[in-house]
Amino acid sequence: MKTSPSSRRGRASREADRLVELAEGLAQSGSRAEDRFWETRLDTEIDALLTAGDEGSLNAALDRLADRESRAYEELADAIEGRVEHVMVRTSDGMRDVLLFASPVLAWSRMPVPTRVVGEKTLEALTKAMREHVFSDKADLALADYFFSPDQLPESFGETAELRASLTNHITLGRMPVDTGSLNETAQFLADQRYILGVVSVPEGEPMFKWQEGLITRDEVQAAWRQAAHDSLSTLLPACGFDPMLPRAYYVACRDADRAARPFSITASVAFLTTTLGIAPKMLTAIIAGCYNRQLEEYRIGFQVEHEDEVIHGIVWPLLGAEDEMSDVVEEIEATLSEAGITHIEMQRQRMPMEYCEDCGAPLYPNTDGELVHAELPDNTESTGQHLH
Ligand SMILES: [Zn+2]
Repeated sequence: MKTSPSSRRGRASREADRLVELAEGLAQSGSRAEDRFWETRLDTEIDALLTAGDEGSLNAALDRLADRESRAYEELADAIEGRVEHVMVRTSDGMRDVLLFASPVLAWSRMPVPTRVVGEKTLEALTKAMREHVFSDKADLALADYFFSPDQLPESFGETAELRASLTNHITLGRMPVDTGSLNETAQFLADQRYILGVVSVPEGEPMFKWQEGLITRDEVQAAWRQAAHDSLSTLLPACGFDPMLPRAYYVACRDADRAARPFSITASVAFLTTTLGIAPKMLTAIIAGCYNRQLEEYRIGFQVEHEDEVIHGIVWPLLGAEDEMSDVVEEIEATLSEAGITHIEMQRQRMPMEYCEDCGAPLYPNTDGELVHAELPDNTESTGQHLH
């Protein structure tokens, strides 16, 4: 039956009301026992909406709570992400916990950073390294056979839950073929994230990750994974500098990667500029400016060579989570630039617009005169190929 837009809105609103009510109940709960009461009801509602593909109600409830800056927002977001990435599955051996996870890799290259199908041998080697160094002895794994860019990750809660479900169906096989035709195009940056995605399955209540067994810390797991994955990742990322991050549950791993990608792209850019131009970092000037829509959205950082006028490279440093103009973000940017050896740092205090190049869509970056301009490498140097027109 075709429903009219108004009846649809009415229904979405009632369902969003219910989520808001339950999330507020949970936020104000005074005991673990009461928490469980609200959580169980919230989980049931969320599952029903995910099954019905009703993304609108989930987002409407989140939007409503976000406006109020309440703890209930955090509770609802946690509950939705939890239901999307985790499921209990009944098998012939009893109930099992199944969790969608992501293994992010930060990478940079003067060539485009690849996204690609992961060959059988490499996927096997990655699975083996994860079994030995990341997941508990009781874990079963299935990995997607694709190396994803951020643009290619599922966009909605429903799509993410679907990916978790398809991977779950491939646990016995250990690998899931990805339909590459359905993936988005990837925007090219000098430095970016790439992801290996998979599900891990353990008997109900057993540890999933090595650190849950209490014998080894997260840091030790990350160090071991970094070493064990190095050769396979070199195959996936030829001619790239890269840094594998700790594999974790999907949403938290993506947030870790977004956060770590910001300083990583500064370090990568300075390495790129100094080697490409054959200059020391202290010959570069970095110009930081805050870019606004209605509110501060991101900082943009332009790079100029000492005594020259052109902006030769730029970086976007997006705000994440609850960050706003009151956060110590500029201090963090300046500290990262200093660590990379940049001694000339200018802050443009005026509010700048979120402007992009009309031809290629590249962000414009601040120069020392306080204008937003196109970043162009000098003609006689190798170009990254992203700003040619
Ligand atoms: Zn352009």
